[in-house]
Amino acid sequence: AKEAGRRAIRFYEPVMDEKIERRRDLAAELQGALLRGEFHLQFQPIFALDGSKICSCEALLRWTNRQFGAVSPAEFIPIAEEDGLIVTIGNWVMMEACRTAGAWPDDVNIAVNLSPVQLRSAELPAVIVRALGSAQLPAHRLEIEITESILLDEVDTTLAALRALNAIGVRTTLDDFGTGYSSLSYLTRFPFQTMKIDRSFIEDLDRSPASVAIVQAIVDLATKLGMQTIAEGVETPAQLAQLRRTRCDAVQGYLMGYPMPASRVAALLAGMRIN
Ligand code: C2E
Ligand code: CA
Ligand code: CA
Ligand code: CA
Repeated sequence: AKEAGRRAIRFYEPVMDEKIERRRDLAAELQGALLRGEFHLQFQPIFALDGSKICSCEALLRWTNRQFGAVSPAEFIPIAEEDGLIVTIGNWVMMEACRTAGAWPDDVNIAVNLSPVQLRSAELPAVIVRALGSAQLPAHRLEIEITESILLDEVDTTLAALRALNAIGVRTTLDDFGTGYSSLSYLTRFPFQTMKIDRSFIEDLDRSPASVAIVQAIVDLATKLGMQTIAEGVETPAQLAQLRRTRCDAVQGYLMGYPMPASRVAALLAGMRIN
């Protein structure tokens, strides 16, 4: 058994080396990425089910590196978090997202993802106030998305940070709800105005009665607690029909719209005004 174990380890060695090497090289490239102008934002519309109008757009960070090409945020954000670089990058995202939304109609909000590392930074409220000010965007049009996993640790710091955001007047959204294994009682403790139901539940909606029951329960609970609900990752008409029956407030996903450049979102929003 010992012999087999050793052989197994040797077998995986090159793969592990490659992973570590890629991570190290990406970390090095991330250092100058902002200065080289390698980041841009895309925007994915979120539709209110009541009236089917775009109620907000989520800013999604894109990195096109000179050496690695397009790198997924799922890969580079954890690296940027580890290095602390996420704060500088996140500040840029906040400025850029607010600036872009400044050109949109008054009833379309901007949703910005925030890393737990950013949430714990003391300068966050000042950064947000500055971004809103320079874009002349009212605070209530900014929705900050934070993943549910944040609720698991440093409860007091998180609570204080969320309250500080609400005090400025920005809205807070609990992202990826259902994946973080947090207690349901946290929903009443933490000041979130909106809950985003994770894609994993939406995925199974058109084939699993259990998923229908879970999503219905989540929507009912959130609604009773006074929260808005958004379903993410809607890909099929059957999922959308089910979400209407569930009385979810809003939907987002490839069925309604892919993440798109700022110019296309602006055209889409302008078109909606005219029609
Ligand atoms: P997220 O916040 O849960 O964002 C939703 C992800 O699902 C996005 O991937 C989006 O492109 C994708 N998506 C949207 N609709 C559908 C659909 O119908 N089906 C499927 N399969 N996927 C869909 P993306 O852009 O690759 O972002 C991945 C994650 O990276 C985000 O997950 C978020 O956690 C993080 N992220 C992205 N931008 C930022 C940012 O500016 N700051 C921070 N801190 N994190 C970010
Ligand atoms: Ca999000
Ligand atoms: Ca999400
Ligand atoms: Ca998700």
